[in-house]
Amino acid sequence: MARPTVGVLALQGAFAAHARALDAAGADAREVRLPRDLPGLRGLVIPGGESSVMSQLLESSDLFDPVADAIAGGLPVFGTCAGMILLAAQVLDGREDQKCFAAIDVVAQRNAYGRQVDSFEADLDVAGLDRAFHAVFIRAPRLARVGDGVEVLARHRGDVVLARQRRVMVAAFHPELTDDARIHELFVATVGEG
Ligand code: GLN
Repeated sequence: MARPTVGVLALQGAFAAHARALDAAGADAREVRLPRDLPGLRGLVIPGGESSVMSQLLESSDLFDPVADAIAGGLPVFGTCAGMILLAAQVLDGREDQKCFAAIDVVAQRNAYGRQVDSFEADLDVAGLDRAFHAVFIRAPRLARVGDGVEVLARHRGDVVLARQRRVMVAAFHPELTDDARIHELFVATVGEG
């Protein structure tokens, strides 16, 4: 089977590690910086970083609307941390001018874990995986609401931290920072060939 080409939004944040994880998961990664990088992609990863800055850069590089159109057209997309915030239906504690794609029926609250637990790690039970996934959370957003149509794939202390709705998957943590490509494999399994 041909390896699908999956884009990684490379405007800011943790994109290089995602490219490595996608490679390990059986996809060819393409960095996306301009609208012309989008055609031919079978999926797109929106990495962690700073969602307000990424929102601004998406607009200044004329990528916001083409990415929104591609998602509306059914392009599978995986947002991690800041990427989850960008895919949410609504953002709490965002910067005033911060935009989101409203691609999944969740409400994301930025920096919700407070200073003392700014960053933490946890072993997660993930639906579809036979052993725990070691997850790294960095100034993670919290899902304040998860709609009925959203499939919950993992929780941490009651909070949903990995979820999917149709072709949109979101993680509150950074699956690209560990040497374990199983979460990327879950995503790559949902993208077509090509
Ligand atoms: N706190 C960041 C934001 O609001 C997200 C942190 C991350 O992506 N590691 O966008």
